[in-house]
Amino acid sequence: MIKSQFSKENAGKSDDRIVSSLSIPDDEQDNSLRPKRMSEYVGQSKIKENLNVYISAAKSRQDALDHVLLYGPPGLGKTTLAHVIASELGAQIRVTSGPAIERAADLAAILTNLEKGDILFIDEIHRLNRNIEEVLYPAMEDFSLDFVSGKGPMARSIRLPLKHFTLIGATTRAGMLSSPLRDRFGMMLRLEMYTPEELRDIVVRSAGILNIKIDADAALELARRSRGTPRIANRLLRRVRDFAQYEKLDSINLDITQRSLKLMDVDELGLDITDRTVLEAIIDKFSGGPVGLDTLSAATGEEASTIEDVVEPFLIQLGFISRTPRGRICTPSAYKHLGRSYIGF
Ligand code: ADP
Repeated sequence: MIKSQFSKENAGKSDDRIVSSLSIPDDEQDNSLRPKRMSEYVGQSKIKENLNVYISAAKSRQDALDHVLLYGPPGLGKTTLAHVIASELGAQIRVTSGPAIERAADLAAILTNLEKGDILFIDEIHRLNRNIEEVLYPAMEDFSLDFVSGKGPMARSIRLPLKHFTLIGATTRAGMLSSPLRDRFGMMLRLEMYTPEELRDIVVRSAGILNIKIDADAALELARRSRGTPRIANRLLRRVRDFAQYEKLDSINLDITQRSLKLMDVDELGLDITDRTVLEAIIDKFSGGPVGLDTLSAATGEEASTIEDVVEPFLIQLGFISRTPRGRICTPSAYKHLGRSYIGF
């Protein structure tokens, strides 16, 4: 019997989860799976329509695209979309992240090196330090850098012009952005979770790139269990491929898909042990809720931010948890899914 590293005994905290939407080192191979052009980018049709208009307008004006904020849960394709925008514009892209920029001078150096039309992609932009963020305000609005030269009475404020660039910011928490920063984005685009059919198309496309054969029903099954998230769909595909190769199958069929997902402890909706731990804690320890985020974090041993960014969005989307002003509650459908009887609140 194949012993999965994702078996129940080994199921650890969210970082090790096979269905975590956060990137894990294993996903680095994913770079080959990233769509390069808008036509390959599956789903998000409203966003693509808008962007196509703005991109072609910017190109015909030979001007930089307006600054764009992409927001939504991890793994939905924000980084991928930033690269797609750059290649559609034929622009250079410079990639960094909020936590990677430690000093205002680091950001100033990046900004002064940008050429006209370049794209600066800042991932996790909500984690930029507030005093560093202030460097961005004039840079985004007037394409200039303000800095003070000298000290005391000799101090002089100097304004340095920058080339017209486009900032693309990505965040899982638009609400955590300060309003001066938020207001400086011309476009705020919210990425939605993908439908099973869209995820099936992603699985089929990725299987083609990875040179794996997969039956149509197996691709849809994988898609259904991927929590609306392409990163998870690609990861499950690679894991199921390993099981199929172990059994010397030349194509991934529905049977091996279901058996391997069972071994990985991913249920038919894509929930794993972490989701069940959170739901069971609300039901068993707090009589179904309401329970506050910090209390839930203490009760489950999961970081509050992980619950909020990674676990909860999908449970809310499924209608298993709802947020009330007094905290999270489990809905009757969560009870039903866990095979519990619902007694009401
Ligand atoms: P985020 O930046 O939102 O965390 P990524 O852009 O890193 O997410 O996407 C994770 C992976 O999912 C990518 O490597 C890519 O292979 C895949 N992916 C994301 N969005 C799409 C899409 N719309 N079509 C096809 N594949 C996608």
